[in-house]
Amino acid sequence: MILSLNLDVASGYKSLSQRARVMTEAWVEENLYCPACPSDHLAPERAGRKVVDFTCHDCDEQFQLKSQSHPFGPRVTNSAYEPKIKAIRSGTNPNYLFLRYDPTAYTVRDLFLVPKHFMTPSLVERRRPLSESARRHGWVGSNILIGNLPVDARIEIVKDGRETPKSKVREGWSRFLFLREQTVYSRGWLADVLASIRKLDKEVFSLADVYAFEGELSELHPRNKHIRPKIRQQLQVLRDQGVIEFLGRGRYQIRKA
Ligand SMILES: [Zn+2]
Repeated sequence: MILSLNLDVASGYKSLSQRARVMTEAWVEENLYCPACPSDHLAPERAGRKVVDFTCHDCDEQFQLKSQSHPFGPRVTNSAYEPKIKAIRSGTNPNYLFLRYDPTAYTVRDLFLVPKHFMTPSLVERRRPLSESARRHGWVGSNILIGNLPVDARIEIVKDGRETPKSKVREGWSRFLFLREQTVYSRGWLADVLASIRKLDKEVFSLADVYAFEGELSELHPRNKHIRPKIRQQLQVLRDQGVIEFLGRGRYQIRKA
């Protein structure tokens, strides 16, 4: 993988954002492999198809690219709200690639992937409708709350200008594929409980540690009145899927990938 961007492809473009888009898209096409299968190429989609930018022709996974020159914060602005929620519910939403480039050295600094199986409606924030004066007045956009995702949902492909081994990226992808077999509702619970566990930042943790997130979890799932049983249920699923181990007496351990 070569981390420098090809400036030649942007020669016909004046605006910075267009140049960045063209260069980062060309970079993905030239350098990125499919994280979901052994294919070493992602094919760009025809311009005009707004939601999908790249497709793997071997496994049909679709990827949307978001590029910017500053670090990604906890929320990233994204496309129209309603279509996105619909796509998540029907499982037709793409996977997301978040790329940060260095605007002076023209290199890829960071690139991480958020697989679509981690996306749930609660991660999509509705933005205020555009004002009367706007050309697309009334249009409602969205933010993706990437800050609420467990670290497992953020698969680093390049970090601080260093490439992660391909095999590790593909492992990170397949480890949580079981989420695709869950309903969107259960997926949300699993991801939220996993995010809580990851926030503890300990290898061994107790049930009481996870119960400490009861308040936060009930805010995320306001209709559920039985948060603690729900937490225990998610821990069981995570154990069955080999993500955590039960050590007995209310203690748990995160298994190494
Ligand atoms: Zn593939």
